[in-house]
Amino acid sequence: MSNSVPNAVVVRVPGKVNLQLSVGPKESDGFHGLVTVFQAISLFDDVSISRSDIGAGITLAISGDQSYGVPTDETNLAFKASEIMCATYDLPTDFRIEIKKAIPVAGGMAGGSADAAATILALDHLFALGLSRDEMHAVASKIGSDVPFLLGGGTAVGRGRGDEVTSALSRGTYHWVLALSSNGLSTPAVYNEIDRLRDGMDVAQPHANEHLLQALLTADAVAVGKALSNDLQPATCSLRPALRLILDVGSEYGALGCIVSGSGPTVAFLVADEEQGLDLAVALTSSGVIGTVTRASGPVPGARVIEVR
Ligand code: ATP
Repeated sequence: MSNSVPNAVVVRVPGKVNLQLSVGPKESDGFHGLVTVFQAISLFDDVSISRSDIGAGITLAISGDQSYGVPTDETNLAFKASEIMCATYDLPTDFRIEIKKAIPVAGGMAGGSADAAATILALDHLFALGLSRDEMHAVASKIGSDVPFLLGGGTAVGRGRGDEVTSALSRGTYHWVLALSSNGLSTPAVYNEIDRLRDGMDVAQPHANEHLLQALLTADAVAVGKALSNDLQPATCSLRPALRLILDVGSEYGALGCIVSGSGPTVAFLVADEEQGLDLAVALTSSGVIGTVTRASGPVPGARVIEVR
């Protein structure tokens, strides 16, 4: 390894879809126990961190297709990650974070968490900390429940709040068509809505769907499509009824499976191959029920350094 100290590090980090999201009852602390199966997919943010002059502090800038509505103050999750890293590892607090966003904002694809994961890895490299995976996970889980998964990416089962991550064996490549919405949904609002819809019901503890895990193991995309499930979907569709129309278009065009991703409102369609993905993307665009459609595939690796200068 070179001894020279880098001036800047660029980390590329993916977004995710939840192939399964099983949401348990609301607990006494207001949170819900989860079991989720994550897949990292090929929509990426690039987070660059470069050293600044002493006294400049931590500054942050956003660019890219999906930058609208992303905060540039200390509420940005990349900023939060850098503050925790600086406090934990006594780092100098003079650097600039530049985020080039392609992961949809507030779309249930964990874009903010992705940027936090990227920041942890970038600072580890910039300051040659040599942190272990466990040390990075410990910082990540202080920021948000999706952050630990996005360090490793691939396919994984998340338990607890989603932050206790175990890799899942998955074979094959899965092709997705994503129907994006210009208005995000607030994750807390979606959880409030699921609580409202479940009022008076006995809610089972969350569990992993063994059919889904088996289908991933055997690269059976048809079975994966059938096994996709999201307990938050009734809540997202209740808050955003137009999502039902979008899900219907996907089913009519023979998608292997259709699901609202995480807390939505992005709708993810699993398709057999790139050709079917292209057909469905055209159908969705011309249906008039959706503004932006994009395609991606997974699983892909989590946060990784792509440039050191
Ligand atoms: P999740 O699936 O983890 O619930 P999400 O994909 O629905 O998240 P994000 O894109 O992570 O949502 O953004 C949710 C909110 O977080 C945004 O509306 C924005 O105000 C705030 N936010 C903070 N930091 C970031 C960031 N780096 N990128 C995007 N949004 C951010």
